[in-house]
Amino acid sequence: MWNRLVRFMTWSGGVALRTALLWCVLGGFLPFPGGQSVSGATLRVQAAPRLQETAQGEKVVTVIDPGHGGENFGTVENGHLEKAMTMTTALAMYEELLLYDNVEVYLTHQEDEDMSLKARAEFAAQVNADFLFSVHYNASANHELFGTEVWVSVLPPYNGYGYQFGYEFLRDRREEGMFMRGIKARPGDSGNDYYGIIRHSAALNIPAVIIEHCHVDEARDAVYCDDEQGQASQEKLQAFGKADATAVARYFGLKSSALGVDYSGYELVPSETDQCVPATVRDETEPEECHVEVLESDYENAQITLKVSAVDRESTLLYYSYSFDGGVTFGRREPWPGSDALAGTYDESFQVTLPVARGTAPRIVVRAYNMYDLYRESSLWESPQIFPPQPPAWAGMDIVAVDTRTLTVPEENKVDLFMLIKFCVNSALGLCMLLALLHCLTRRPRRNPQDK
Ligand SMILES: [Zn+2]
Repeated sequence: MWNRLVRFMTWSGGVALRTALLWCVLGGFLPFPGGQSVSGATLRVQAAPRLQETAQGEKVVTVIDPGHGGENFGTVENGHLEKAMTMTTALAMYEELLLYDNVEVYLTHQEDEDMSLKARAEFAAQVNADFLFSVHYNASANHELFGTEVWVSVLPPYNGYGYQFGYEFLRDRREEGMFMRGIKARPGDSGNDYYGIIRHSAALNIPAVIIEHCHVDEARDAVYCDDEQGQASQEKLQAFGKADATAVARYFGLKSSALGVDYSGYELVPSETDQCVPATVRDETEPEECHVEVLESDYENAQITLKVSAVDRESTLLYYSYSFDGGVTFGRREPWPGSDALAGTYDESFQVTLPVARGTAPRIVVRAYNMYDLYRESSLWESPQIFPPQPPAWAGMDIVAVDTRTLTVPEENKVDLFMLIKFCVNSALGLCMLLALLHCLTRRPRRNPQDK
């Protein structure tokens, strides 16, 4: 009995040991959970100048994918048609990239046609693409988002490749003054990529990114793609295409005798091939903190100065918005001061002076939004007083000069009553003085009966 048990334990221990050894030996060649082979991803170099190596002397093969097409219009907003916009940009990117040496450039499609995401990735695989760049324009459901962003794969090494490209693209957009929404990866249900073009490409061993150039439905972005009539500007869409090509050229270290540029020694942002860039990992939680504090209530000029502070430890804060009616309605999103989703930085707190509607007692709530548009609301701050209404022109200066800051009536309704009483007393006094004056002026000398 004991012998059998010892024999069994020795045998099972041996199996475990052999399995572990085999696991270690084959470790580098085992497929990723998503089914992708890591062949070509075994470079375990930290802070490599360029993660994605292409064969020496061979041409770099790039595939440009104009987003949408055919019945798939993409974003349709105020005369903007995404499928047409992406084609303009993609063609300009194509033309520009052809000016570089040692590069092959393909478009997934050139006609306005339907093409599945899988077919686009398969096309890239057929031409042995080193990279697929999917060109897009954005819009948001409530027309409140603005900024430019790049979506990359959740899987290493494609994550790192995408990050290095995205950084090159966004870096220049930041210099142009565009708002940074960052380089992000979005996991789907099964742990691989949510976005089909990235998922299908990764399954075929091709790194892919989605370039969301800007939001066509928000004024602060529309300036980068619209003409003066508010329609898509061909020149601006083409400029985006050229910018895409420049980022690709820097990414692959290309050279162009036609353009007189040489990026062959160009160093990219440090990244890794065996794990995701932390900044790209999706933050599933809203910011941890958001506070609002009122520094000054200026009743005379009807404005209020707030100190807003918020913390998100896992992603960058991008926007804030505020409510004056206790959180029922919020104004448009404003850029969070110091927000830079590319650098991963934002100001922890800031001051802002806002106009207050006269005759109201603001009930202030502030929202802080992170890179994934998740937000946290501050607690409610209620003004103890009503901001006085603009006094009518006929009212005496006495009323105007009331300095409500000196009033310390705790309940807002009492302020009304107080001001009403003061107004009545002042009016009554004024009326009395006027009557007395009139009485003096119009008084006839009283006849003294003795004067007769
Ligand atoms: Zn799109």
